Amino acid sequence: MTHPIRTVAVLGGGFVGVATAYALQRRGFDVTLVERHRYPAMETSFANGGQLSASNAEVWTHPATVLKGLKWMLSPDAPLLVNPRPSWHKYSWMAAFLAAMPQYRRNTVETARMAIAARGHLADWAVEEGIAFDRESRGILHVYRSKAAFDHAAKVSRLYAEAGLERSALDAAGLRTVEPALTGPLYGGFHTPSDQSGDIHKFAAGLARAVARRGGQTLWGHEVVHLTPEMGGTSVTLRTEGRTRQCRFDAVVISAGVASRALARQCGDRVNIYPVKGYSITVDLADAASRAAAPRVSLLDDETKLVSSRLGEGRLRVAGTAEFNGANRDIRADRIAPLVRWVETLFPEVSTEAVTPWAGLRPMMPDMMPKVGAGRAPGVFYNTGHGHLGWTLGAVTAEMLAERMAGQGARRLHPVSAPPAAGAPALARAA
Ligand SMILES: Cc1cc2nc3c(=O)[nH]c(=O)nc-3n(C[C@H](O)[C@H](O)[C@H](O)COP(=O)(O)OP(=O)(O)OC[C@H]3O[C@@H](n4cnc5c(N)ncnc54)[C@H](O)[C@@H]3O)c2cc1C
Repeated sequence: MTHPIRTVAVLGGGFVGVATAYALQRRGFDVTLVERHRYPAMETSFANGGQLSASNAEVWTHPATVLKGLKWMLSPDAPLLVNPRPSWHKYSWMAAFLAAMPQYRRNTVETARMAIAARGHLADWAVEEGIAFDRESRGILHVYRSKAAFDHAAKVSRLYAEAGLERSALDAAGLRTVEPALTGPLYGGFHTPSDQSGDIHKFAAGLARAVARRGGQTLWGHEVVHLTPEMGGTSVTLRTEGRTRQCRFDAVVISAGVASRALARQCGDRVNIYPVKGYSITVDLADAASRAAAPRVSLLDDETKLVSSRLGEGRLRVAGTAEFNGANRDIRADRIAPLVRWVETLFPEVSTEAVTPWAGLRPMMPDMMPKVGAGRAPGVFYNTGHGHLGWTLGAVTAEMLAERMAGQGARRLHPVSAPPAAGAPALARAA
């Protein structure tokens, strides 16, 4: 049996949680956003690859990816690293990953569809709330160094076309026409002009300010220590500055990234998220020569599995690596070195004198599909588990969940669409 929902606590203030709070608020819910850090988007949504990439929607549950992964496990420099120490969570997650292979095609098409839909929401929100986030709209260029990898990508293009995503095949010369800064021996690639990139942390911070401006309650520095679903609501125990207190909400949405699994367990749900660690570097393009030599177009290098995004004039973000090592957040020098080397090899005129390293944990479901919807207990909902595509998909899954919850009886307090904020950048709706 469902109960009417008016007050909602969104648990987790990463990009996905902030987006969920915003989408709910616009449908009239009385929203409280709870985040244990002092600021929004300080964990996985802090310094990711920056790509808003429908063209990276291919799920990894494919035999070719698994074979490549096994080969990589033998090489210390490879983009994949698995700590072989036995862990029930890790190996049961991997078994579920293999079991999801029959859904490869369906999940790839569905992810691409969601990614295309997400663009429009993100662009609309940026306009309405006046959020500047170093957005770059020159598309995403996937580069391949071998014919075999290029041929596989051509097959994936057909799946993307089913979802309505167009991308064009290019030879090596064509790649350099799109991004003249590219160097080195390349076979060819694909350009997706409708894809974009931008700074997830700037966007999430701007959207969190909008939630507060529109009357939402934002509880920074508040940790959710316990959840108790009850009749007609959920009791949430919060800890802040050493003190605990109890709050009650008609509904909660769990958007706590890699911590969602533990919170879900308290509500009687199994949300099988594994933390898949990745690394990034942010290169400070301090001098004019570096700024001229750094790529403008967002890149995905298939062989190294590294992505890059230009963040404004002065920064180049490079990200990658999948490390299966539990909830470990250490920044390892030997995993950062290949990212720096990639910049130095492909863009030798870019200075790597000032580089900021970072590591984050992707909240990854075994079938690579986010968990969006209701849990077992009435009033418990999820928007989490976006893995390597939370920035790309978060806006649309927030809208999907909010729409579903609105069907359960919220009062509409605000109009769904508000006029643009003064001074907002003129962004076109992208899809
Ligand atoms: C190296 C790397 C590169 C990536 N590149 C891209 C990319 O190019 N494009 C793309 O689309 N995606 C990319 N991703 C993935 C994307 O960054 C994530 O999917 C996304 O940031 C996840 O957002 P989230 O809000 O679910 O999680 P998070 O950002 O981790 O937010 C969860 C929040 O919940 C809070 N929280 C947890 N537990 C509690 C609690 N008990 N009480 C209160 N608060 C709590 C945390 O403090 C955190 O702020 C990348 C990820 C990595 C690691």
